[in-house]
Amino acid sequence: MPDIAELVREFGSPLYLYDLRRVRESVASLRRALPPGTHIYYSLKANPHPDIAAAARAEGCDAEVTSRREVADAVMAGFPVGECLYTGPGKSEEAIAWAVQEGVRRFSVESETDFLRVARTAHRVRETVRCLIRVNGTEAGGGVGLRMSGGPSQFGVDLADVGRLARSVQEHPNTEMDGLHFFPLTNAKDEESLLDEFSRTLRAAAALRAEGVPIDRLDIGGGFAAPFAVPGELPEYGTTADRLATALDEHMVGWREGAPRISVESGRYVAAGCGTLVLGILDVKRSHGRAYAVLDGGVNCLGGMSATGRLLPLSAVPLEAADSSTGGTEAVHMVGPLCTPVDVLGRGVPLVEPRVGGLVRVPNVGAYGLTASLLAFLGHPAPAEVVVDGGRLVSATRLELERRPVAPSPRGSRAPQPDRPAVRMRSRG
Ligand SMILES: *Cc1c(COP(=O)(O)O)cnc(C)c1O
Repeated sequence: MPDIAELVREFGSPLYLYDLRRVRESVASLRRALPPGTHIYYSLKANPHPDIAAAARAEGCDAEVTSRREVADAVMAGFPVGECLYTGPGKSEEAIAWAVQEGVRRFSVESETDFLRVARTAHRVRETVRCLIRVNGTEAGGGVGLRMSGGPSQFGVDLADVGRLARSVQEHPNTEMDGLHFFPLTNAKDEESLLDEFSRTLRAAAALRAEGVPIDRLDIGGGFAAPFAVPGELPEYGTTADRLATALDEHMVGWREGAPRISVESGRYVAAGCGTLVLGILDVKRSHGRAYAVLDGGVNCLGGMSATGRLLPLSAVPLEAADSSTGGTEAVHMVGPLCTPVDVLGRGVPLVEPRVGGLVRVPNVGAYGLTASLLAFLGHPAPAEVVVDGGRLVSATRLELERRPVAPSPRGSRAPQPDRPAVRMRSRG
């Protein structure tokens, strides 16, 4: 591994360090957890850094993308654009048009309106696109991470409405029915919850298939877990490959011949382990008996999504945290430099003799690290992102946010198009 202090001298802190070897290892480990031939989408949402995405591509993943920027990042990383899966519950007509122009040909559609927008765009540009219908179809399971379906949901189409939408997809001249997309949960608690969710998914898919919904591709989503901002290893899914294959044999006859082709999606399992955030200690202070380590990065670099209160509070534990039995440790609140009391990375973290000028390294932040943070809040520069491959330096970059003038759009309005036949878009230029 490179010398961290040396990297900080060169590139400053805070600093994200990514090791591409870990990306390759995690994809290999995910593959071992899946039946042979299972296709993997890497979700750029977890970390769109082109070097990380390129490492996932080199291991045979395709890209799951959900914005123009992610399409561009995926293309830059070497993903074949025609194999990208474009997902998300709110796709604007402009974003769809842009994606189709770039060559995206596969969309997950999340409602009738969403489908019509994709279909209209495909029609206008005289292209055929393939649609997966995202299904909100599995009854609630227990013991899971962040659930995204099961009851009322902003995601997907209720089970009862899938058949009708599938017929619309088949009937439209510019769309083809590709299959079904499920993504009911993320960060499953354990292997049993993951398998339980997969079997719910397969039962729902089998019921739809029996109803006559064509399924060339079945994307069963994921939920593969990873530690976040604490030391630890990726979970091993030692029995998943066999048990999932058995469940597929039961519910999805033909899958071994690629009919349907089975896909999974993962962001965090692929990327989490490759990233470490290195923070400098700017101050160590005491207040009413509590010690604070004031770091040079906080929720502007990490865990911004937790700071919204929507997710569990962030509780980062750096590699420097010793177990409390070791002498010389002090339990500190690790806080960032932002002028807000929510800028807390961890509470009561046992650091060994924290001192001004020292460094802490928060591990397992390769997924949902930088781009999931409150990057623009309070205007500090983004951390440098340094990519290594084992000992070799691959790249060092910094995301820049800058304000630029924006011209009014040619249509005079960026509002969503109403749900009726296409209003012609004037071509630009
Ligand atoms: C967020 C998301 C993913 C990635 O989830 P991870 O927990 O990072 O694996 C995959 N697919 C969809 C549709 C998502 O919204």
